[in-house]
Amino acid sequence: MLLILDVDYTLNHFYPPSIHDFAPPELVGHNNPQLWDWIIEHLSTTEYPVHETAVSVLERLNRCQPLVVVSTGRPEALRTVTERWLRQFFQFEHVFMRPNGDFRLNAEIKRDVLTQTILPLAQGRTVYAFEDDASALEMYQESGVRTFAAPGCWQQLHAHLGAAQDQAALRSALDNYVVP
Ligand SMILES: [Mg+2]
Repeated sequence: MLLILDVDYTLNHFYPPSIHDFAPPELVGHNNPQLWDWIIEHLSTTEYPVHETAVSVLERLNRCQPLVVVSTGRPEALRTVTERWLRQFFQFEHVFMRPNGDFRLNAEIKRDVLTQTILPLAQGRTVYAFEDDASALEMYQESGVRTFAAPGCWQQLHAHLGAAQDQAALRSALDNYVVP
């Protein structure tokens, strides 16, 4: 089992519908370096609350001893604050981030990380991704990854895992989960 976790809107409650909804209007509309500077400044100084149900579901899945990696569209400039926040709540082996100065779409960045780095790490493990971004979810599906649409999946999985305690029961519950 290999779990890929996104960060914003997946593991945290990110308040606005989109960062473009509260960034200064003069920066919005273009995927420009100034907007990214603003995002870096904002996320360096603002922490959004963790999704408690995600913590609880992932704690359960940790009984299967999964390899857990984080793949986020946040830029490398936010690595320190992002890892510090994640470590308070989650276990993970690697954090893959947007290279500095790379302004491509989230799904394109994550596709590169998946094919170049994550899939070679899988070594026969089934790969599952927890992600809120529709394009990234589609990309994962096209690549044969089983996807869970966050944040709604957490509550559904929490109920679906039910009384499953041991590895076999948890794996089977995860594999039999049908997207509602
Ligand atoms: Mg996200």
